[in-house]
Amino acid sequence: RQRDPSQPEFHQAVEEVLMSLWPFVEKNPRYASAGLLERIVEPERVIMFRVPWVDDKGAVQVNRGYRVQMNSAIGPYKGGLRFHASVNLGILKFLAFEQVFKNSLTTLPMGGGKGGSDFDPHGRSDGEVMRFCQSFMTELHRHIGASLDVPAGDIGVGGREIGFLFGQYKRLANEFASVLTGKGLAYGGSLIRPEATGYGCVYFAQEMLKKRKLSFEGRRVAISGSGNVSQYSAEKAIELGAKVISLSDSAGTVHIPDGLTSEQLAWVMDLKNNRRGRIAEFAQEYKLEFLAGKTPWALPCDIALPSATQNEIHAADAETLVKNGCVCVAEGANMPSDLGAVEVFLKAKILYGPGKAANAGGVATSGLEMSQNAMRLSWTRGEVDNRLHAIMKSIHHSCLEYGTQKDGFVNYVDGANIAGFVKVADAMLEQGIV
Ligand code: NDP
Repeated sequence: RQRDPSQPEFHQAVEEVLMSLWPFVEKNPRYASAGLLERIVEPERVIMFRVPWVDDKGAVQVNRGYRVQMNSAIGPYKGGLRFHASVNLGILKFLAFEQVFKNSLTTLPMGGGKGGSDFDPHGRSDGEVMRFCQSFMTELHRHIGASLDVPAGDIGVGGREIGFLFGQYKRLANEFASVLTGKGLAYGGSLIRPEATGYGCVYFAQEMLKKRKLSFEGRRVAISGSGNVSQYSAEKAIELGAKVISLSDSAGTVHIPDGLTSEQLAWVMDLKNNRRGRIAEFAQEYKLEFLAGKTPWALPCDIALPSATQNEIHAADAETLVKNGCVCVAEGANMPSDLGAVEVFLKAKILYGPGKAANAGGVATSGLEMSQNAMRLSWTRGEVDNRLHAIMKSIHHSCLEYGTQKDGFVNYVDGANIAGFVKVADAMLEQGIV
């Protein structure tokens, strides 16, 4: 904290992980040796750079770009790029730190990284977004590579941005390399990658629910956000017979008491992905209640899938969720529950799946995209989906292995943190003090 006093999200992520790890490390002292914990919280490398670009009015804009290369003990750095006005070094360090454990949990050989910019794509034309992406990649390209660092999407970075970034990389590097994932199908993308984080989160929640002989069938599901993760969590939840009662964005929440229909979801996908509109327009179109400035957590639900951003559930929201009968929280977003909220869920002993386990399906499928690129072939939709499903089940299994308590309660936070840590820690110890 003294070294980086203005990085509260990073401190929060580290605190959560170390709270799980400490009792485990005390029992397994080799993990306290060789400065391992001190090294694991320090990025291997941080790159910060100027991103100058020209807007549609001809004015010069200057943003800040970053890539945090956190840990390469088990494979090349891997993690998304976030374009959002709130982006700063502390937020990217928290995301990169989480990514290290998440990637390890997938069982695939991927190290952890994260990057992005404080560029805000809202309201920007396609031309502006392209010029920004080209400028961003003009610097980033010298720091990434198929065996070095393979970025992907995150908030504000979807198929359009990945396309522009890839085009500029190819032009500068003069090679067609698997240097980004989340690519379009026409140029090396994988089927199911757009769906993977949302589907994976629901698959993980299904496994958790099975522990209590429950399922999605007929359950009320509250989802926050209306971007990539939210859309495909909703799609899979509907497919499993659940009633999706909310979607949101930073302006507020749409309450859908009768449950989102597939037709409405298709309308939202077009609104968000093609027309780049606001979720309030969905409420207006279908005459639904719009709760301006509100999150979905006061709406009574059985299952909550927070899928927007970090720290969107505070302790009071968690209390409300539990009081209203919510039995399962699976995090599509990264660190959406703050430390107080996590404490409430664990105390209430509901099923609580932290992001690094529940949303690992996205990066896992990015790993599958890299494998397909390396083999220069494409798997079918069913094949990728089956692999994703199997990976989510295996992550759930690892959480049970390290998180099951004496009374049978599964602390998925401990389970995910310890299971993710062991492989990275073993690799770091074997590679010496580097
Ligand atoms: P998108 O950009 O597609 O969507 C983000 C959604 O969250 C939008 O509805 C956005 O609303 C809302 N949101 C973003 N910031 C805030 C905020 N500060 N307050 C309220 N709402 C906000 O991003 P993704 O769906 O890809 O990512 C969502 C979450 O999932 C993030 O935490 C991300 O790190 C995580 N994640 C994503 C993965 C992926 O594969 N895409 C993989 C693993 C995790 P608005 O438009 O108003 O900003």
